[in-house]
Amino acid sequence: MAENFDVVIAGGAVIGSSIAWHLAAHPAFSGRILVVEPDMTYQRSASALSAGSIRQQFSQPVNVAISLYGIGFLRAIGDILAVESDRPSVSLHEGGYLYLGAEAHREGFEANNAIQRQMGADIALLDAAGLKQTFPWLETSDLAIGSYGVSGEGWFDGYGLMQAFRAKARSLGVEYRLGRVTGVEIASARASAVTLEDGSRIGCGAVVNAAGASGARALSAAMGFPVPVYAKKRCVFGFACKEQLPRHPLIIDRSGVWWRPEGEGYIAGYSPDDLDESDHATDFEVDWALFETVIWPALAARIPAFEAIRPGRAWAGHYDMNLLDHNALVGRVPGLSNGFIACGFSGHGLQQSPAVGRGLAELVTEGRYTSLDLADLSPERVLTGRPLLERNVI
Ligand SMILES: Cc1cc2nc3c(=O)[nH]c(=O)nc-3n(C[C@H](O)[C@H](O)[C@H](O)COP(=O)(O)OP(=O)(O)OC[C@H]3O[C@@H](n4cnc5c(N)ncnc54)[C@H](O)[C@@H]3O)c2cc1C
Repeated sequence: MAENFDVVIAGGAVIGSSIAWHLAAHPAFSGRILVVEPDMTYQRSASALSAGSIRQQFSQPVNVAISLYGIGFLRAIGDILAVESDRPSVSLHEGGYLYLGAEAHREGFEANNAIQRQMGADIALLDAAGLKQTFPWLETSDLAIGSYGVSGEGWFDGYGLMQAFRAKARSLGVEYRLGRVTGVEIASARASAVTLEDGSRIGCGAVVNAAGASGARALSAAMGFPVPVYAKKRCVFGFACKEQLPRHPLIIDRSGVWWRPEGEGYIAGYSPDDLDESDHATDFEVDWALFETVIWPALAARIPAFEAIRPGRAWAGHYDMNLLDHNALVGRVPGLSNGFIACGFSGHGLQQSPAVGRGLAELVTEGRYTSLDLADLSPERVLTGRPLLERNVI
């Protein structure tokens, strides 16, 4: 007779572990939860390779609401995820995001700002003079507008957040098992068991696909629901600058290059326009030419002090990019009464993990969202072909 769990979660990084803990802590849930994860070092999971930042500056209200919940969660993480006397810290630094725009961007910035402020996000629009006054070290001659997160945005230890969810989940009895989910047995629109790469079979009351850039697409196909989620390589470069630049936020330049303080130095990256299915990334090689030809020139043009920077360590990770609309797919798998999915976070899954974990725990346990309604992220939109387009993707 096969082993049996009430819920099996495929993928034990930040999303899988948040769902696991939220389920285990849900007052109406009593059952056994198994998290299956092929790499307990998480070396290649996006959760371990991210830039660890959180912003309210989205164009979709559901994303703003999710990150507003996320920042409150991060501020209180020591209380929420404490395991006995061990209080996790994720070194949250609320340094803000600053989006830079020219005159042509004004309308878009103003439309986004209206949504963000209406939702309660603390985002201010600055004109060129305001930008120069607030950030005197910034080159503003080609700028007309900036959108600045006065509070509620910044950066944190993303790996620490994942480990805090994991430790708390395990303290409540969630089991983690080394393995890879390769198949899901389905009968009468219900998942009855999962099969693992080693051939073992585990019975389940419900199954959740949180397998990220490396695994969510294949697993979703195995559940009868193909999703357009592809791995896109993103490189992050560290560098040092001798000059002090006070109040430096995370800056998103007109060029598409972004950078922010990290410890004593900075990190930077760039999101290329690679939004098709042609290059599903598999390698983790750092693209140094990107730094030389795209990132460094943009940094030096925007901040003269960056002309003489010293490059440091760099790494590459994979975004789980949802090519339909650059937004997460979260909810019940169409056609399955007890199959769920949380993938396609397109570069903003770390900050979304608290709200998504809570929401999926509600959906699994109560059959509906009872706190924040995440219905806008429903995977149904893959079937209907109706995108929920997020304009602010980095
Ligand atoms: C360079 C970079 C910068 C980023 N910056 C930010 C940022 O600033 N802010 C932000 O919010 N987000 C950021 N992100 C995105 C964020 O890291 C991800 O959206 C988030 O970590 C996704 O978490 P996940 O648990 O879904 O996926 P992952 O962390 O990728 O984890 C998926 C897990 O599933 C496992 N797995 C794969 N296949 C299977 C299978 N078949 N069975 C079982 N397990 C399986 C994998 O081993 C992996 O551990 C960034 C990502 C990258 C790469």
